[in-house]
Order: sequence, then structure tokens, then C-alpha cells
Amino acid sequence: MNILESKIQTLTVFFDPRCSTYSHPGHPERPERVILTVERLSRQQHLPIIWLQPDLVSKTAALKAHHQSHYEALSSTTSDFDEDTPYYPGIHDHALRAAGGALGAMKVALSGKPAFSLMRPPGHHALPERAMGFCYLNSMAIAVLEALRLGAKKVAVIDFDVHHGNGTEAILHGCPGVMFASVHQSPCYPGSGLAHRSPNIFNYPVPPESMPAVYREAFAEALARLTAFDPDLVGVSAGFDAYRLDPLAQQHLEKDDYHWIGTQIKALSRPVFGVLEGGYSEDLGQLVEAFLLGWCGGSNQGYR
Ligand SMILES: [Zn+2]
Repeated sequence: MNILESKIQTLTVFFDPRCSTYSHPGHPERPERVILTVERLSRQQHLPIIWLQPDLVSKTAALKAHHQSHYEALSSTTSDFDEDTPYYPGIHDHALRAAGGALGAMKVALSGKPAFSLMRPPGHHALPERAMGFCYLNSMAIAVLEALRLGAKKVAVIDFDVHHGNGTEAILHGCPGVMFASVHQSPCYPGSGLAHRSPNIFNYPVPPESMPAVYREAFAEALARLTAFDPDLVGVSAGFDAYRLDPLAQQHLEKDDYHWIGTQIKALSRPVFGVLEGGYSEDLGQLVEAFLLGWCGGSNQGYR
């Protein structure tokens, strides 16, 4: 580690290799996403990382965000949830473990240290009543509702995945002490997130084929809204599919843009936890590394 990087914060990363043990042929949400990212983060020498295995989230915590019928369907159903969201043996536990990663990261953040959950499946499309868009349980929303239970007074979520975080919005809409801001491409899956929704939902749609500066500007606007809310805890739904080589959308972000997003998160100077959402390019590991380095005070040279 060189002297210029001596102020880098140590990051706690939640990961369990069991989250890479299920797959569906041809599905973009595949085990290599996390396997290659873990390999990359383990090899790099710029960011000190403490690795922890998450616990499964409790049924009580999951039911704060989801209907009982959906919770039970995760263990009883053996058919696909929708055309994007396959049934997998053990998906109930996989989803509970991913939510446990978010919960673990949230608790570390409450103690004043940055933490990231590097788990799959992602969560931000999961609705109260059903799985959707590769997502089974809404890990971020579950973590936010638990944070409130543990005494957080104001919690803000910012979601920079290229797809609108419709599930998180549905769960957190109208929730006292919470705000949600999403920056995403529109038109794009899932088709929602076109406007703000009173009292606590702020959507920043960006047209397809926008230049990175446009995505950055929308992100900065969302962060300004978040800062005005003055939260004592921030959750980041970190999706990396606005990258120029991502196969699922039409944005043009570069690795340096993800480093910049990280620096903006750091500049909030508040307790922050992050959760991996989407990101389907082969460069995902580098994008995650760039974001984490920016967030923890590392230079934009570390991930090259
Ligand atoms: Zn996405």
C-alpha cells in the first residue's frame, strides 16, 4: 500500500460461497458474477478487507418487508416465479442468506464502519408479494426496516443500478423515517420510476444511450436530495449494469464513473452500507473494485 493511500478505510465484505452454487443455463445472473469479483477483491492490494459470512435473515425480519404467502412460496414452489426469475432448489435459503448479508452490512455501518454485501441473488425488484426480475427477497428493504427497529431515526437508500428499484420503492413508499432515491434508465425494465412519489420516493430516469455525464448529473441530484433529508444511515443499492459493456441496458458508464460514484458516497460522511444488485458484464469485478475504492478513499489507479 503506498503512502498516498494511507487514509483508506478498511471495508467489511459479507460473502458466502454458497451463493455461487445455483445457476440456470444462459441466465445472466450467474455464479461467475460473484466468484470473479471475490477473486479480484482478494488479489488486489489497495483496499484492506475483512471478510465475513452472513447469517440467514430471520423470518420475522423478512416478514417486515414481504407477505407471508410470498415467504412461504419461496420454500414450497418448484416452478419458475416469472420468465426472468427461475425456481432453484434451495432458493429460499439463498435469498435469506443474501438478505442476511445486507443486514450484516447494515449493522457494521451502524457501528460507524463501511460494509458491503457481495451476495446473490440481488433484491431490488422483489415486491412485497412476489419475486421478480432475478430477485426473490428485497435485501435492502429488509435491512432498512431492521435498522429502524434497531434505533436508526432516518434511513436513506440510493439505488444506481440501471434498472428502477421498483421493489424497494414499493416496500419503502410512505414508510416514516425513510427516503428512497433511484437513478436508472428509462425506458427500460421494469418500466416504472418515471417520477417522484410523495412523500418519500425520488426517481431520476435517464434516457437510453446517455453520456456518462448525464448519469452522473442524475446521481448528483439524487444525492443532493438525500443530503437534504439528513439521514443517519445510508443504504446503497449498487448495480453495475449502466456500464458501457453491460448486455442488459444502453448506458455508457466507465470504470472511472463507478470510482467517482464511490467518492460521492464517501463525501456524504455518514454511516453507509452497500448491497450488490445487478451488473452482468465480464468486467463486474473491476467495476465493484473501482466503486469500493472510491467509497473507502482509494485512488482511481488501484483497479487498473
Ligand atoms: Zn439492474
